[in-house]
Amino acid sequence: MLKVGLTGGIGCGKTTVCRLFAELDVPVVDADLIARRLVEPGEPALQAIVQAFGADMLKTDGSLDRPKLREAIFADPEQRRRLDAIMHPRVYARIAADVAALHSDYCLIAVPLLLESKNPYVVDRILVVDCPQPVQIERVVTRDKLSAEQAQAIVASQMPRLERLARADDVIDNSAGPELLAEQVKSLHNSYIFLATARTP
Ligand code: ATP
Repeated sequence: MLKVGLTGGIGCGKTTVCRLFAELDVPVVDADLIARRLVEPGEPALQAIVQAFGADMLKTDGSLDRPKLREAIFADPEQRRRLDAIMHPRVYARIAADVAALHSDYCLIAVPLLLESKNPYVVDRILVVDCPQPVQIERVVTRDKLSAEQAQAIVASQMPRLERLARADDVIDNSAGPELLAEQVKSLHNSYIFLATARTP
């Protein structure tokens, strides 16, 4: 099965694009969703986080206090590394298990930090969802009710746009409206089916 890794900066449209592929019956494995499930109360990863960062990372109901954890790692690379060491192997193992259970010509594996990750999950192709930075900031501000400065700070903490584009095998330009987006998804879908079937003997 052809494994297409989908990535892109915050708010560039990864979720929107995944939805369009899913509408074409393409299986989508979502690393964010997996990571959320892995830190539900009772899960070993949550216990590991509490051990590493302290019990005040939990809300009173025992669930993970995400904003607090985000704050703890945002400006501290060492803390981020600790969290990555807890989460990445578990997320990748779950992705591998989910992918192994699929029956399809190809699948999408959405990993926001696919290109930033030190030991990334191995995929056959990298699909980057892209839009110009002002559009990206505007969409994040609207969706997350952040100030432009806050959105800008998050964008600045991620891999620069041109570096990400240079690593892409395929790019979706999500600067325009939904029609153009759907057209690009359809065209890539056909290419991926072609590539997947060409690989099978
Ligand atoms: P994150 O990195 O935060 O997970 P994302 O890359 O998954 O974000 P989306 O959530 O898909 O991005 O899109 C960000 C916001 O922009 C959403 O509110 C979405 O509805 C909107 N959006 C996405 N694509 C378009 C588009 N082509 N035109 C207008 N708005 C769009």
